[in-house]
Amino acid sequence: MITISDVKKVFKTKTGSLTAVDKVNLKIKEGEIFGVIGYSGAGKSTLIRMLNGLEQPSEGKVDINGKLISSIKGGDLRKARQKISMIFQHFNLLWSRTVSENISFPLEIAGVPKQERQKRVNELIELVGLEGRGDAYPAQLSGGQKQRVGIARALANDPEVLLCDEATSALDPQTTDSILELLVDINKRLGLTIVLITHEMHVIRKICHRVAVMEGGKVVELGDVLEVFKQPKEQITKRFVQQVT
Ligand code: ATP
Ligand code: MG
Repeated sequence: MITISDVKKVFKTKTGSLTAVDKVNLKIKEGEIFGVIGYSGAGKSTLIRMLNGLEQPSEGKVDINGKLISSIKGGDLRKARQKISMIFQHFNLLWSRTVSENISFPLEIAGVPKQERQKRVNELIELVGLEGRGDAYPAQLSGGQKQRVGIARALANDPEVLLCDEATSALDPQTTDSILELLVDINKRLGLTIVLITHEMHVIRKICHRVAVMEGGKVVELGDVLEVFKQPKEQITKRFVQQVT
């Protein structure tokens, strides 16, 4: 369970301060695929970055499976982060390393012995459907394949939570669908909790169980995806639903 309690994030700016996330409360269940949708600047990335300690809340708490992620630091935070991994819009791969070496990287950091690493990398390559591409470099791969490497790398240390920040926004619709299918497959097979942020409602409809709509740093609507599509309450939610109907 992820419990976000009264979380606020204020950034200092040249002219004063900016509240990026404003008193957000959410409970995300274990094994759930939870979507967060909102327009640019709504605070989605800032919120998700507080779930793995990349940002610390100015106020409030983030608890992930009993660990207060918002208040741990240093080595404890690095350790906790191995269980909360993240994938990104632009993949964030290491360009001078092969596919296998990219996937192996978090295992090296975690101190996993070489032989075990190789075995795990092979399993992960198979899991994400990249058989035969282990020796390729990221530049030799398509966008969808790059994201598959990102996913394999994120799963290397057997995380409890996978955070996805616009993970399909750089991909064409067909490739997007195949990556979303992979995420559903991983969610079912590994029982992994997935928190996914997007500005595209079809992504929410395709794989999320519940959705939170963010506007101006606040969660303005929250519900089961089917319900929200059937009966959107807020104007902004209606606009998102119209994107796909
Ligand atoms: P997008 O869809 O464009 O990725 P988003 O919903 O992810 O948008 P955030 O990146 O969370 O939005 O940004 C929310 C607000 O906080 C924006 O106004 C942004 O400019 C501001 N912001 C984000 N990070 C910082 C920072 N490190 N310093 C100052 N302001 C920031
Ligand atoms: Mg963002």
